[in-house]
Amino acid sequence: MRQRHRAWADDFLRNNTNLVIPEPEKQKGHWRELFARDLPIHLEIGTGKGQFINGMAERHPDVNFIGIELAKSIIVMAGSKIKNSGRTNALLIHADASDLTELFAENEIASIYLNFSDPWPKKRHAKRRLTFHTFLQQYQHILQPGGEMTLKTDNQGLFEYSLVSFSSFGLELKDVFLDLHDANDPENVMTEYEEKFAAQGQPIYCCRAQFT
Ligand code: SAM
Repeated sequence: MRQRHRAWADDFLRNNTNLVIPEPEKQKGHWRELFARDLPIHLEIGTGKGQFINGMAERHPDVNFIGIELAKSIIVMAGSKIKNSGRTNALLIHADASDLTELFAENEIASIYLNFSDPWPKKRHAKRRLTFHTFLQQYQHILQPGGEMTLKTDNQGLFEYSLVSFSSFGLELKDVFLDLHDANDPENVMTEYEEKFAAQGQPIYCCRAQFT
């Protein structure tokens, strides 16, 4: 069963190289050329099964989206969603997002989304958190001046840590929600994890911050 699933994922990646871009490091500095229209590029890190990127691409036809996801069996689900929707303003990268400067040139990205990133709660794993200062340095490099990042999480510890990390790095906090759904933001597009946690009654923490 597992073998069949893996074969399906391999087939999907082989047959959809215009959607899940192989050898993404070769596109560094040239991502805009892969889209049908030349528009600002927004990047989601840890795309999961693709509900967010697909929903955002539908809601914002004036933005090009790229999603990065490490797990092969998961990224093909995101790929299927985008493919079935017929949208041309979303692409995927099957890669580890540990060094984004290998994948993107300076100023190539307009906005970054971190949705329900792994919290790495142990102190000795702090440097793996996607809001650790070494990641913020990478984001600052690939983002255009004044670029924004948006963090959504159910994890209070990661949220508190990230607010401190953003502030220490000099980011300007634009919006902070301790319960995003209570705020009823009509612009919010839910992720798979967000739906699950919200259904359990857990608050969704959200922060939008800008590099100055
Ligand atoms: N964003 C989705 C959501 O909110 O429903 C999925 C959240 S899930 C907790 C975290 C996702 O990030 C997983 O699919 C995992 O494979 C991916 N991920 C974790 N570390 C990553 C990395 N270094 N590079 C790319 N993806 C990563």
